[in-house]
Amino acid sequence: MDRHVAEEADDGYVILWDGWLSLFDLGIRKHALGYAPALVDRIKRYKPECEQDVADLLRHGGVDPGQVDTIIYSHIHFDHIGDPERIPTARIVLGAEGKVLLQDAYPVNPESRYLAFRAGREVVYIDFDAQSDALNKFFGPFDRVFDYHGDGSLYLIDGPGHLQGHMLVAARVAPNVFVLLSGDACHSRECYASGRAVSKEFEAHWSLAQETARRLYQVHKALDNVVIILAHERERETEMPLFPSELNVWAVEEVEKRKQRKTQ
Ligand SMILES: [Zn+2]
Repeated sequence: MDRHVAEEADDGYVILWDGWLSLFDLGIRKHALGYAPALVDRIKRYKPECEQDVADLLRHGGVDPGQVDTIIYSHIHFDHIGDPERIPTARIVLGAEGKVLLQDAYPVNPESRYLAFRAGREVVYIDFDAQSDALNKFFGPFDRVFDYHGDGSLYLIDGPGHLQGHMLVAARVAPNVFVLLSGDACHSRECYASGRAVSKEFEAHWSLAQETARRLYQVHKALDNVVIILAHERERETEMPLFPSELNVWAVEEVEKRKQRKTQ
């Protein structure tokens, strides 16, 4: 199967390879430089370090960033959006509700926290209300799900609440095994593993974010064939192989281990 999934550390950008190359989030911009001026002081408080961004890591792994076909964004917070101009030829895919954040992005609005995409950049907005019934699927408790390739290999999942347009991605890594890349639907493993609600301070829409986290918890409880990976889940950096190693075999083993624990 020509399908590989890999994750690199540093706030969760994940690489999906399915005949063509897609990225899910780009992490932080290199040296955390080049953000909209209205964000600069806020970012300094976090003291992010990013010596190598995703384009550097691709090159070190033997992949030319020019080969990337698609950047799928979970959402456009600074630690996920990275610098799309480092992957200049890729199509951008974003949840349609995120469009409003970009309508007056910097420099049109000097106060905006968001940078406008380069003029002429191809951006595809995923409108879950407008998808045909044939491509609108369920993924466990999530009922607004777009079958991106139309072959069940990659699902884009509406996961509202954290920020407008927030999406999760489920990638099939074996005939009946998925990794669910959850963006910021939850910020830590405890959030979904315990069913505890997400933290109010991080969410644009509190009740929607709670509902998305609740559904993630249901996936965790009910779907044995799904490995959940949160963008900020620090445990995963040491638990799982990082790019250029693949996740596929590891994910299948995780599923097997869980099934064994249940039968013991
Ligand atoms: Zn976020």
